[in-house]
Amino acid sequence: MMIRQLLWLFSGCLAACACQASDPPVFDVNFVVLTNRAEAIARATPEQMRREVDILNTYFVGADGKNPVRFNFKNVTYAYKLGVCSSLLEMGDYAREYDSFDFKARYEACGDSRLVDRGAINFYVYDGFSNQNGFADITSHGHNNGDRPFVVIDWERLDHQTQSPEEHEMGHAFGLSHVCAPGAKTTTSTNIMASYDCGLGSGGRRDIPFNVEQVNTIRTFADRFAASLTPNQAAR
Ligand SMILES: [Zn+2]
Repeated sequence: MMIRQLLWLFSGCLAACACQASDPPVFDVNFVVLTNRAEAIARATPEQMRREVDILNTYFVGADGKNPVRFNFKNVTYAYKLGVCSSLLEMGDYAREYDSFDFKARYEACGDSRLVDRGAINFYVYDGFSNQNGFADITSHGHNNGDRPFVVIDWERLDHQTQSPEEHEMGHAFGLSHVCAPGAKTTTSTNIMASYDCGLGSGGRRDIPFNVEQVNTIRTFADRFAASLTPNQAAR
């Protein structure tokens, strides 16, 4: 009897352990408001940051309507209040055109886990700048960065404004490249990863979910992230 009970306990444990790895995998998102602009801070409230997670979980979907991965709100930090990682903080209101190599170098140099959380996908809110548009520029960015992914979203695009920025930039973080949308206008329905940079049309609305190939890429990158990015994943 004793042995049977032990076996039952053991098999119960095995079953419980097997259930802990969630499908789809869930990734923590660490929000960091880098900009010190009053309008931006007024918009980037903790409530809004939680809504950003809802937006990702609503629109980061495949053609089958399923989420290849899901996202979880972890934390929000208003970096300008802390006075740490001044090099990265400077990116919040930087009056120069975005340089991805420069941003990545500042990201890597920051050792404060509130600003660069190695166990989460870091989501930065900044005020974009271009020589043409000044701080009216709203260009946003997403980088896989050697499986240390982060996104950089202009504050004016929070709450899913202008061409689906959340899921598009997060797509880059999960290894996706742009796709061309020949002839697309700004009002045309296009794939989430559509872009004007192939010169054939606008990026469009980016409201068509990820295709099968894109979902496979996301899942491949998710597997890679899961080994290091979310070490507490099994405990969720
Ligand atoms: Zn893009």
